[in-house]
Amino acid sequence: MISAQLRVAVPEENYHRDLISCQVACPVHTDARGYVRAIAAGRFEEAYLIARGPNPFASICGRVCGAPCEAACRRGKVPRVDDDGNFVATDRSVAIRALKRFVCEQFGPEIRPPEHVLDALRNFVPPVAGGADELAALLRSGVDAGLRVENGPAVAIIGAGPAGLSAAHDLALLGFHPVVFESEPVPAGMLYLGVPAYRLPREVIRREVEVIQALGVEIRCGITVGREVSLARLRRDFPAVILATGAKASRGLGLPGERGPRVYGGVDLLRAVALGGSLDLGREVVVIGGGNVAYDVARTVLRQIAWDTARTAARLPGTAAVKLVSLESLEEMPADTVEIIEGDEEGVERHNGWGPVEILRNGGGAVTGVRFRRCLRVYDENRRFSPVYDDSETMTVPCDTVLLAVGQAPVLTFVEDGGGDIEQVRPGWPKVDPGTLATTAPGVFVAGDLAHGTRLLIDAVASGKAAARSVYQYLTGRKLAPESTTVYLVEPGYRREKGYEAIRRVEPRVCPAPDRLRRPDALVELGYSREQAMREASRCLDCGVTPVFDGARCVLCGGCADVCPTLCLKLVPLSDLAETPEVRAAIQAALGPVEDLAEHSAILKDEDRCIRCAACAMRCPVDAITMERVSYRTTWRIA
Ligand SMILES: Cc1cc2nc3c(=O)[nH]c(=O)nc-3n(C[C@H](O)[C@H](O)[C@H](O)COP(=O)(O)OP(=O)(O)OC[C@H]3O[C@@H](n4cnc5c(N)ncnc54)[C@H](O)[C@@H]3O)c2cc1C
Repeated sequence: MISAQLRVAVPEENYHRDLISCQVACPVHTDARGYVRAIAAGRFEEAYLIARGPNPFASICGRVCGAPCEAACRRGKVPRVDDDGNFVATDRSVAIRALKRFVCEQFGPEIRPPEHVLDALRNFVPPVAGGADELAALLRSGVDAGLRVENGPAVAIIGAGPAGLSAAHDLALLGFHPVVFESEPVPAGMLYLGVPAYRLPREVIRREVEVIQALGVEIRCGITVGREVSLARLRRDFPAVILATGAKASRGLGLPGERGPRVYGGVDLLRAVALGGSLDLGREVVVIGGGNVAYDVARTVLRQIAWDTARTAARLPGTAAVKLVSLESLEEMPADTVEIIEGDEEGVERHNGWGPVEILRNGGGAVTGVRFRRCLRVYDENRRFSPVYDDSETMTVPCDTVLLAVGQAPVLTFVEDGGGDIEQVRPGWPKVDPGTLATTAPGVFVAGDLAHGTRLLIDAVASGKAAARSVYQYLTGRKLAPESTTVYLVEPGYRREKGYEAIRRVEPRVCPAPDRLRRPDALVELGYSREQAMREASRCLDCGVTPVFDGARCVLCGGCADVCPTLCLKLVPLSDLAETPEVRAAIQAALGPVEDLAEHSAILKDEDRCIRCAACAMRCPVDAITMERVSYRTTWRIA
């Protein structure tokens, strides 16, 4: 009988490092595993410092980051098996974002008195430390003195969103004088203008930005480049300019009836609400879109209606309703599951699988409804957007207001005066060198959504930091290169918390649905208590620690495989392995020439199953298995 041969991967140099999937997945490579394990051990201050280290927006990320770390978390891939070894379900990832919020609430800038209170206190009891200045001083002390430039020149940054402010943060730490030009009356870009206050308190934004200002960053709000000052002028006055203007314009769909009163872009509505302005909203609102922004829009409108009703104490005509109509089926919707669930709980009326055809208006031009047709499929076999419709099935949703939440685009008209040498790949999108984020114009760089298209906040942060490094190189002529420090440690007697493998994910507390609409900024997610945080953190698999097998000591007793609770280890004859060049090389390196592969064995490990419990190491009668820890950090040095 010919048995199917097993295809295996042979660990390479960075194999174990790359298993720390949360850190690898984070665009700024935050050591999430490090701070989660510190929380589990009750070392909260250390956890905060790990979380804040590479990320100027740690407190905000703790509230709203899209959390690629969680999507990559290995705990979310571990199969749960019953007593007979049958697959039951996969486990759920560690709630890394909520844990970050927990430590930021203990030690982040949001817990400190506001700067004006500290200033007032300083007049009475000098010197009162704390607040943004203290954290800024701490951050400065961590910068390699060899990198810092003494009295570096001013750098212009257009846009005070997370990309622009992250670039400014790093440039200030490196000794430059960043000046950020922002058209809105407040800094923080979409974090303030887009993310609603029921998800992200304005005070958290203010405090986090205060720290960046305390580093010496100058933010000039209310200045639109292209209006109050030209790009040409900035390029004359500053040796380098970073364009970080994001993607602020709501995309349209070009539907008949789209132009005219009471059809708005979703982000325009969010901006108006964030800045305390008003839009002429009706009582029957249709939101078109199926992503997170559509939910931010729909849930914000619900709150506005509830708030207006409560304040006026009036019975306004008609029933108020917010209907969200999405092209995608429920399973395909790009919005996070939590948004869909919370939207349902709050009363967002969801209609899946419908594509808009026309916005209907009466003779006076007022919106009366939207006509939709059935969408049979949104994506093709290659996951490309390619909707297929059934024109015979249509529905008309009556409404008086339509909000479009179908994506955003940049506005780059300001480059007309002074940016003629900035090539665009298509209108509105500058041509960007992916390595340096440089445009085709000397001294002009790009960061954030404008550089890579709309993504997550943490992508904008990473991009801003990368732009700062490029400006540094451009202005100093000194090349920066990443330097990775990898540390390996043997962990004798490594043990895990009792029963950690069985703990179910602890969800952060949330405000009950009926209470959420009482005030537009009533926080939905309420976070963890200390006990909840430590319990959730103890679910982390500590992926940096892994069993390492010493073939020279192993007596092939198979005890490690027998004792493994997730059946992740397997002892097999070498002849069972598919002979790839890597496998051949590994056998050669370990054993030299081998005549009969069936006489030798290999231990195979299924990484998706291994929960780092150390049972194998404890069981091994000849100490052939050690638990070893790998951790790494990347810093930037002059090349
Ligand atoms: C509604 C909404 C909700 C979101 N929620 C989340 C979330 O929960 N989690 C997450 O991870 N990501 C979220 N995102 C994505 C995230 O906010 C963005 O990826 C991020 O803000 C992009 O950062 P940026 O700095 O590139 O651009 P922006 O944040 O858009 O900032 C650009 C700034 O440039 C300014 N500007 C533009 N033109 C000019 C000019 N000519 N002169 C001066 N200033 C100018 C703008 O006013 C703005 O302040 C959300 C996005 C939106 C729209």
